Amino acid sequence: MIDLEKDVKYVKGVGPNRVQLLNKLKIYTLNDLITYFPRDYEDRSKPKNIYECIDGEEALIEGTVIARMSEIRLKKTTMYKLVIRDETATCTATWFNQSYLKNIFKVGEKYKFFGKISNKYGKIEISSPVFDIEGKNNNTGKIIPIYPLTYNLSQNTLRKIIENGLELVDGKLEETLPENLINRFKLLNINDAIHKIHFPNEFKEFNQARNRLVFEELLVMQLALLTLKNNNMTNAKGIQYSKDVKMSELICKLPFKLTKAQLRVLEEIDNDMESNKCMNRLLQGDVGSGKTVVAMISAYKAVKSGYQVAIMAPTAILASQHLESFESILSDLGINCELLISSITKKKKNEILEKLQQGKIDILIGTHAMLEENVIFKNLGLVVTDEQHRFGVKQRSTIVNKGQNPDVLVMSATPIPRTLALILYGDLDISIIDELPPNRKKIDTFAVTRGMEERVNNFIKKQIDEGRQAYIVCPLVEENDEMNLKSVIELAEKYKNETFSDYKVEYLHGKMKAKEKDEIMNNFKDGKIDILIATTVIEVGVNVPNASIMVVENAERFGLAQLHQLRGRVGRGEYKSFCILKYQGKGEVVRKRMKVMCDTNDGFVISEKDLELRGSGDFFGTEQHGIPEFKIANLFEDIKILKVAQDVAMKIIEDDPKLQKNENIKFKKLTMQKFGERIEI
Ligand code: ADP
Ligand code: MG
Repeated sequence: MIDLEKDVKYVKGVGPNRVQLLNKLKIYTLNDLITYFPRDYEDRSKPKNIYECIDGEEALIEGTVIARMSEIRLKKTTMYKLVIRDETATCTATWFNQSYLKNIFKVGEKYKFFGKISNKYGKIEISSPVFDIEGKNNNTGKIIPIYPLTYNLSQNTLRKIIENGLELVDGKLEETLPENLINRFKLLNINDAIHKIHFPNEFKEFNQARNRLVFEELLVMQLALLTLKNNNMTNAKGIQYSKDVKMSELICKLPFKLTKAQLRVLEEIDNDMESNKCMNRLLQGDVGSGKTVVAMISAYKAVKSGYQVAIMAPTAILASQHLESFESILSDLGINCELLISSITKKKKNEILEKLQQGKIDILIGTHAMLEENVIFKNLGLVVTDEQHRFGVKQRSTIVNKGQNPDVLVMSATPIPRTLALILYGDLDISIIDELPPNRKKIDTFAVTRGMEERVNNFIKKQIDEGRQAYIVCPLVEENDEMNLKSVIELAEKYKNETFSDYKVEYLHGKMKAKEKDEIMNNFKDGKIDILIATTVIEVGVNVPNASIMVVENAERFGLAQLHQLRGRVGRGEYKSFCILKYQGKGEVVRKRMKVMCDTNDGFVISEKDLELRGSGDFFGTEQHGIPEFKIANLFEDIKILKVAQDVAMKIIEDDPKLQKNENIKFKKLTMQKFGERIEI
């Protein structure tokens, strides 16, 4: 059998130098090499009439050599010219410094050429073409793969190396999918698929190969996610909350009427809580859709049934805010809430820890500080994590393990397209709040370029003069990027000392101490600061109803979902609010993305567009969603295959939850290879 884990250096044509270049492309083994898929293809299979060749295109032409090659000596270079003709026109092929070509072409013979065409005023040329004599298909006559590359490695070289790699495995790859699936969906076998994804004879073959590989990739992901979900369900017999505690007891005491969507998700949560299965639910809702109150009502039910609740937020500011809203409603009902963040005094902390262990605290709201070992609950029954993408899977499980199979609700304000959410979060049940509370004012959004700077600044001043406050957000590509940090600080200083010198301006960035950040944030909340300049640390959940302007610098550097989050920081009070996206660059995609932001306030629509404009690689490659990157699948294009894969995966897991049956051994191997770190089967 063939050893796919063999070092790529053993492939023909790979010397020490090239090993390093391949490693840069993350190609280490033979397997990596043959699954290094092309990003595009060039069709060198269908010749065009010379007359029809368009300026700038790459084309294959077929013609007879009508004169001997001419050689033109320039200062340092030599140019070779060859005139060819087909039935429609003549064309001059040109090369530089390739003296070996001199004696190759014979007058009167037919050749095929592939290269870049220039067609100026009917004078047609093809520059540095690759060629074959008629009847041969070495460089032309086929579809040629184009690979994503680093510098110093040419397409030709990599293509040759991959060809050599494929020769090693030719026909010897062990089938990864069971035969019944291959027959049922008429899939290519693995050997053909791998060969044809690199070197298809026609595009139909490419499609067949790609379909098969995409199907496999998505099926494996689905199997892994379902296994994960199964683990959660079967291992854990959850708490069964009392049917006598009614959520409506609290709902009728709220100062507002819940939306239909809120009521619907509460019913879903209520059902989970009253059943003996362990709740593992993702609550998705747009910014401002009212997730907090849903968490509060769920917490109420848990507390009244005799359990404690943990609410974990990613920042101290957000945790304090939650405490405030919880207390404003729950204190009167005899429910005891406390805040645990790292900045509280030791004395206060010890007091909290003791009361927590004695069961005198019903709801503990806090940050990562809650993860510490000495935080011990008497009877933890419900865990809520807010803005879940900020926490890793591990942190979630640390807090969950402080109880005995508590119910878990994760809340996320990063909506992803409905169709995908159901499929991608295979390990969680999903509730969606798809409706905003009534009377929300639309936030007017403008995308502007440099030339508008002064008008924007004047507009900000006018708003502040009317009593409002503003955010200005700068992108910090990486928290550790010193250069970038410096430029953010420079800009902040400029705004502070020049542009807005008459106003109270402060800035905030991730490198500051938590205490400093909290202080500035609190001052902003209390209206002591007019303009808050910040890197994206304010992205998450802060609530300052008096702020009416959100300016985003270099908006083109943010993802749409992120911009939407930022915009959600304004429009939280009674005032008309604005979002100004300053952007640079003329690319069409940039403009389209800005337009999406101006056209809609619906987070779900935005996420769908984001996915469409960026492609799923970017969207799901991020740790935000905890989904590994795909080698070949594209969640936007391949949604149909994804659905089929999901159906198949569900049937397989239903029938054989631990993938133990003989026919499923292959799947077990594949899922472990890809997801082994996350799941146990
Ligand atoms: P998010 O989903 O972004 O976390 P919040 O829970 O912070 O949103 O809610 C935003 C604001 O809307 C809060 O001030 C909250 O009190 C208010 N709110 C929530 N639900 C309703 C409702 N049904 N009607 C009116 N206001 C509501
Ligand atoms: Mg929130």
